[in-house]
Amino acid sequence: MIDAKRILVVAPHPDDEVLGCGGTLSLCTGRGAHVHVLIVFDGAAGDPQGKFESADYVARRQREAEAGGRSLGLTNYTFWGLPEGHLASSEELDQGAERLAELVARLQPELVLAPWVGDGHRDHRTVAEAVSRWLSLAEGGGREMGIDVWGYEVWSELPPDQLVDVSGVWPRKVEALEQHQSQLAYADLLAQMRCMAQRDGSGQYERFQRWEPVS
Ligand SMILES: [Zn+2]
Repeated sequence: MIDAKRILVVAPHPDDEVLGCGGTLSLCTGRGAHVHVLIVFDGAAGDPQGKFESADYVARRQREAEAGGRSLGLTNYTFWGLPEGHLASSEELDQGAERLAELVARLQPELVLAPWVGDGHRDHRTVAEAVSRWLSLAEGGGREMGIDVWGYEVWSELPPDQLVDVSGVWPRKVEALEQHQSQLAYADLLAQMRCMAQRDGSGQYERFQRWEPVS
């Protein structure tokens, strides 16, 4: 995984790319990989108590993502800015799959990372479902193109097929998350992130599940 040279990361919200696979991405960019980050939703619901200027909030979250990315060697972002927090219709999921196929055709990644299919957050599951549909597309589908696809975890623990030791770049992952002040204002994400990474004992790990073909 860390030998991939062209990577597309699909993140539901700004910060999921850091929480889910920021350490792995840092290792990859350190080895010269080109990484593109797609952030699907606008993140507008991340300020339920109105602690931040609302007119600027979506742009603020984009700026936080880009600032955090600099700690991980990430400089290429696409923001779809879709409204979050609703149950996606089948048509919307198909549209997402088609749009993903277009992006993949342009970027030609050899590795795609996305939230795993068992993620407990509705928006994350929506993205995982759209990725599964993209993989199954007759034309432009990931299976046809032989792309390696892995699911990452954010807050829902996955049964891992692969662990990546990110201990060596952990300070960069922390630095990246610290840019997301609009989210840290609501929860101690740093402590939660550490708990997820260290749950098997010493060292920090990111965990991934191989995306099984959809039957
Ligand atoms: Zn999220």
